Amino acid sequence: GAAGEALLEVAALTKHFGGLVAVRDLSFTVRRGEILGLIGPNGAGKSTSFNLITGAFAPTSGTVRYRGERVSGLAPYRVARKGLARTFQHPHLFNDMTVLDNVALGTYARTSAGMLASALRFDRAEERRAQAEAYKQLARVGLTEAAFARPSDLPLGKQRLLEIARALAADPEMLLLDEPAAGLRKAEKAELAALVRRLKADGVTVLFVDHDMELVMNLVDRVVVMHYGELLAEGTPAEVRANPKVIEAYLGS
Ligand code: ADP
Ligand code: MG
Repeated sequence: GAAGEALLEVAALTKHFGGLVAVRDLSFTVRRGEILGLIGPNGAGKSTSFNLITGAFAPTSGTVRYRGERVSGLAPYRVARKGLARTFQHPHLFNDMTVLDNVALGTYARTSAGMLASALRFDRAEERRAQAEAYKQLARVGLTEAAFARPSDLPLGKQRLLEIARALAADPEMLLLDEPAAGLRKAEKAELAALVRRLKADGVTVLFVDHDMELVMNLVDRVVVMHYGELLAEGTPAEVRANPKVIEAYLGS
């Protein structure tokens, strides 16, 4: 498909947790090839939206469409197989495996029923292919030197890059990052931002969820702002930065 057309469409998405409405009537579009930032104060509903898009939660109402096809309500691995890869705010890494093998596991997300199930079944040729792909992705994120380290031996910033490498190993068209910069040092944030820019240049569409307004504003093409579960504003970073409702929401939080 052409750059700029709708890749992911969130329509009237709503999620209740008992009496709490975490996301209410949320609609926005991610265009092919762009970096879209989803920001908002803590508790705004960003992670819930992220979880609704990636299949971790089923919506109370509303839909998520990817390439025009409904994905809301599908199991996470089925969403992943369609080309949407995600990372976790708290890295989900296997510390009894090498960094390289953690990335190799990501190659199976796209092709088989599940990461672990396929890891148990892979044959030698498939294993070599997976390792070659894993090296390629480690190089892409700048982690080749850590290939035989354990994830837990790496600083948080490198664990986040490792998570991204694993997501990339599935060859996704779209990458969803939930607070990838949380807890990172300044230099690590800069490294992360540079990687996301390179991914965009490679044609990967990115949904970047974060509460760090400065980081997001300097990185993304467009921004969606959530507040109390609802869409508060949408536009270019310059438009959103100048929006009085956004200023008030951030100053008030
Ligand atoms: P954000 O990521 O923007 O900080 P969240 O989506 O995590 O916000 O949370 C939005 C609201 O939904 C918060 O009030 C939060 O406490 C609530 N919430 C999130 N997940 C759950 C859950 N699994 N069960 C109940 N309430 C939840
Ligand atoms: Mg969150």
